[in-house]
Amino acid sequence: MPSNSSYRFLFVSDFHCRWAQLNGLRHWLATTPTATLDAVWVGGDLLNVNHPRHLQPLAHLTRDPTLEPPTDDPADVVAYQRVIAAFASLNLPVLVVPGNHDPWYAFDPRSPLWTCQPTELTGDLPTGPQVVSVHGHVLALRPHLWIAGLGGSVDVVGYQPPHPRIWDGFPYDEGSMERDLSLVVDKLVGTKSPNHTVVWLTHNGPSNCVTCETNSDPDGRPESREEYGSSALRQVLENMSRLHPVALNIHGHSHHAWGLGRSGRVPVVNPGALRDGRFVIVTLSKVAGSGDSDQWMMTDCEFHRLPEPDDSSANDEPVVS
Ligand SMILES: [Zn+2]
Repeated sequence: MPSNSSYRFLFVSDFHCRWAQLNGLRHWLATTPTATLDAVWVGGDLLNVNHPRHLQPLAHLTRDPTLEPPTDDPADVVAYQRVIAAFASLNLPVLVVPGNHDPWYAFDPRSPLWTCQPTELTGDLPTGPQVVSVHGHVLALRPHLWIAGLGGSVDVVGYQPPHPRIWDGFPYDEGSMERDLSLVVDKLVGTKSPNHTVVWLTHNGPSNCVTCETNSDPDGRPESREEYGSSALRQVLENMSRLHPVALNIHGHSHHAWGLGRSGRVPVVNPGALRDGRFVIVTLSKVAGSGDSDQWMMTDCEFHRLPEPDDSSANDEPVVS
């Protein structure tokens, strides 16, 4: 029986088709004594798709069911399904947001990939193994504990004004990410009382946070810092946390900025890339109150790194599908 006072999950992100690491993770889980997990959360960038900048974003992101999504390379769809199936074979619920290097298919709420369709989501997470897209949705994980999700990324920009664009985001710019974040906030407001705790699962993290700042300059000159985070997400975290508890924002995207940071009063976790063997196990616990005043917080966060695999001869094939 799942505990009503704790929720423990494995979080991986930025797999980037490196199958040897997924096989290594499966071996680690089978051989490492660890407390029971309630779910696997996946933060996106499972593949290496390079999208043209902001291809039809507005038509797609309205989530109008009458609109046809853009076409993917069929090979990318098959590859994405293979990775998700591998995570699902861990026999735990799998909660996913897409990354900027995943196919459009992963952003489409009508995708047959999701064993639990968003239209069926009434707030409570159904029991048993399943694959759920949390992109643009909210779900109850436990009484008074909710997850809110949004995948994709904004542009990577220079850290200092005038913030020149360095890498293209997908499928967002700050304006469209702000709009979709507000749709998720509206769902939270509509489905929960103000004192319930929220955890945000996103692909990119918030701007001005150590988990989103990288510097590829060997001398670390401040002017060469790069910002992988979103100012729209930072605003949502800081504004929401003034109203009620936000226990955590957990994200990927910025491979080298792994660690624990903070956005205002909200803890922020970036495990680094599963491509590099990195992942985290997070425990959320009910810490105060009774009835409607229950609050949840992150009480443990274990950073792990798998041994470097010898995948020089077969780095694109799963040993176990
Ligand atoms: Zn990314």
